[in-house]
Amino acid sequence: MTDPQHCPGFESNKSLTAIKVVCPVCKAEMEAFSDELEKQITCSQCKKAFDPKANKA
Ligand SMILES: [Zn+2]
Repeated sequence: MTDPQHCPGFESNKSLTAIKVVCPVCKAEMEAFSDELEKQITCSQCKKAFDPKANKA
């Protein structure tokens, strides 16, 4: 609903960017999508929640 429609013709499911992040606890690399940067994500390995903006790979 809040998506700005600034790219006509751009595939809607391509508006998310995957970025690499590193878990600050176990150092596991994983990908977070751009819409997940606004909230904490959970590490797939150690299950700890962390802020992806502060832990980019
Ligand atoms: Zn982890």
